[in-house]
Amino acid sequence: APGAIPEHPRAEGKNFIEAVIDEDIAAGKHGGQVVTRFPPEPNGYLHIGHAKSICLNFGLGVEYNGRTHLRFDDSNPVAEKVEYVESIKADVRWLGFDWGENLFFASDYFEKLYGYAEALIKVGKAYVCSLTLEEIREYRGDFHTPGRDSPFRDRTVDENLALFRDMRAGKYQDGEHTVRLKIDMQAGNPNLRDPPIYRIRHAHHHRTGDTWCVYPLYDYTHAVSDALEGITHSICTLEFESHRALYDWVLQALQDLPADVLKDTGVELPPGHPHQYEFGRLNLTYTVMSKRKLLQMVNEGHVEGWDDPRMLTISGLRRRGYTPASLRDFAKTIGVTKNDAPIDMAILEEAVRTDLNEVAPRAMAVLKPLKLIIDNHPGADDMVELQNHPKKPEMGTRQVPFSKEIFIEADDFMEEPPKGYFRLQPGKEVRLRGAFFVKAESVDKDSDGNITAVHCTYDPTTRGGNAPDGRKVKGTIHWVSASAGKQVPVRLYDRLFSVEKPGSERDFLEDVNPDSVTETTALVEPALGTAAPGTHFQFERVGYFFVDPKSVVGAPVFNRVVGLKDGWAKAQTKS
Ligand code: ATP
Ligand code: MG
Repeated sequence: APGAIPEHPRAEGKNFIEAVIDEDIAAGKHGGQVVTRFPPEPNGYLHIGHAKSICLNFGLGVEYNGRTHLRFDDSNPVAEKVEYVESIKADVRWLGFDWGENLFFASDYFEKLYGYAEALIKVGKAYVCSLTLEEIREYRGDFHTPGRDSPFRDRTVDENLALFRDMRAGKYQDGEHTVRLKIDMQAGNPNLRDPPIYRIRHAHHHRTGDTWCVYPLYDYTHAVSDALEGITHSICTLEFESHRALYDWVLQALQDLPADVLKDTGVELPPGHPHQYEFGRLNLTYTVMSKRKLLQMVNEGHVEGWDDPRMLTISGLRRRGYTPASLRDFAKTIGVTKNDAPIDMAILEEAVRTDLNEVAPRAMAVLKPLKLIIDNHPGADDMVELQNHPKKPEMGTRQVPFSKEIFIEADDFMEEPPKGYFRLQPGKEVRLRGAFFVKAESVDKDSDGNITAVHCTYDPTTRGGNAPDGRKVKGTIHWVSASAGKQVPVRLYDRLFSVEKPGSERDFLEDVNPDSVTETTALVEPALGTAAPGTHFQFERVGYFFVDPKSVVGAPVFNRVVGLKDGWAKAQTKS
C-alpha cells in the first residue's frame, strides 16, 4: 500500500563500535549481553543529530539481540518539561524503535544518587565546597593552568555530612554550597579537578515536584544511571571524550565503597560495569543543530513551531514528509566514525528522494498553468488510465479525466524554442502523460503579447500515449483537466538557511533564507482534492509532496518534501 515502508537490508561492513562489541562478546564481557541507552535531556525537541544517536543505540540493541533504554536525563529542572518528554517518546517510536519496558528517568534515581553521594562523603571522596560557582571555575584552571585546592577541601566527614543534609533540607540558598568529588586539582584533565556533583536549586521539577532542592549534575548522574541500569556500552558524542576519565572514576569509586558504608547509607552496589565510547556528532550544512538556537527560532517566531516543516527537528522532518526509513537510511549512509566533519544537506535530501521514489504514488499537478485548447476534441470529458507507479504494477492504476481544455506547465511550451527543446512547440507533437499525442497549432495572446492559450490538435488513436503506427515523440509532459482539476494550496519549502554554515560570519538569524517557503496553489487531479492528511505523492516532473498532517480532512495542504533533483547543486554549478 502507498506509505508502507520497506525494510532496507543492513549495509556490509561494521563500524568501530560494532567491532568493540564483537570483541567484548568474544571475550565473554558482560555475559555476552549488549545494553545501550539513548539519554536525552527533555529540554527541547529532538533533531536530526539525535536521530543519528537513536539509530545507532537502538540499532545496536536490535542487531545484538540486546536492549536499549530510553532514559530521560532530567536532572536540571529549570529547562525541562513534560511536553518535551512526550515529543521525544513520539519521535523515537516514529523512527521505528521500541524501548519496551525500559523507560527510565534519572529523576527516579534521585534518592539513590543522593545516597551514593553521602557514601562518597563518608569515605572521604567528596566534600561540601562553599566557593561560589565563579570561584570554583577560577580555582579550576584550564588545560594550560593547573587548578588550586578549595579552602573547603579538608572539611571533616561529619561536617560535610551535616552540611549536605542541611542542603537537602533546604537550609541554604541556591549557589551557597556544592558537593564536589575530591579527585585531584593538579590533574592534567580539568574534568578531574574536583568536579561538582550536587548543587542547590530551589526549583520545581516536572516529575518530582518540590521534593528536592539539591540536584545532581550531569557527569555524575549519567555514570551512576548507566551503572544502575546495567548498561554495557554507553555511547556518546566526541565532546565527552575528556569526560570519560571522570565517568570511570565515579564508577570505580562506587565499586570501591566498603560494604559497611553501603549498608550504613542504605544503598546497594550498582550492578553494571559500563564503558563509554565516543563517536562523531552529526553536523549538517545549511542548518543549526544546537537546541538553544532551535529554541530561540521557535520562541522568537522565526518558524511556526518545533514542527515547522523547515526545521531539522524530527517532528519538523516528519511534518515535511520525511519517512522513518529515509532517516534510518541516512544514518546508515553517513555511518559512525570518530569524525564530525559536516555532512552535506544534499545527502539527507537524497535519502528521502530515494525512499519516496519507491513508495510514493504518482500524480499530476500543475504549478504554473498554461491553458491548452484541443480544437478537435469532441467536448465531453473522457477518462484515461494512468499507472500509479511506473515500475510497480502492484500499485495499480487510476482513471483521470481528460478534457477539451487542459492545463500544462507554462515552462512546457515555447513559441520559439532553442535547439534541444523537446517539449511542446508549434508544429511538433508531444505526449500528454498517459493520454494522447498533441500537436501545437497556434497561440492566443493578450494585448501585451503574452500567451494566454495554446491551440492544439490531438490524435485520438494514440490513447495511452502510444501511436499504433509506431511513430515516436521526444517529449512527455504532465497535464490536468481544466474543468475537473482541483485547486489546492501548496507550500514549496526550501532550506531554512541560505549559507552552508549559518552563524559563521554573523548572527545565525541573519542567515535565514528569506525564500525558505513559497505559498502558492496547484491544479491537481480531481482525486487529490480530497487527499488524506499524511499521504505522499510524487507530482510527476515536479517533486515529492506530502499532505500536511495538520491539514483539515477534505482540505489538503501539500508540503513539498524535496524536488526530483538536487536543485542546489544545479544552482551552484550554474553560478
Ligand atoms: P544539550 O545537552 O546541549 O541540551 P544535546 O543535543 O546534547 O543538547 P541531549 O538531550 O543531551 O541533547 O542529547 C541526547 C543524546 O543525543 C546524547 O547522547 C547526545 O550525545 C546525542 N546527540 C546530540 N546531538 C547530536 C548530534 N548532532 N549527533 C549525534 N548525536 C547527538
Ligand atoms: Mg547533551
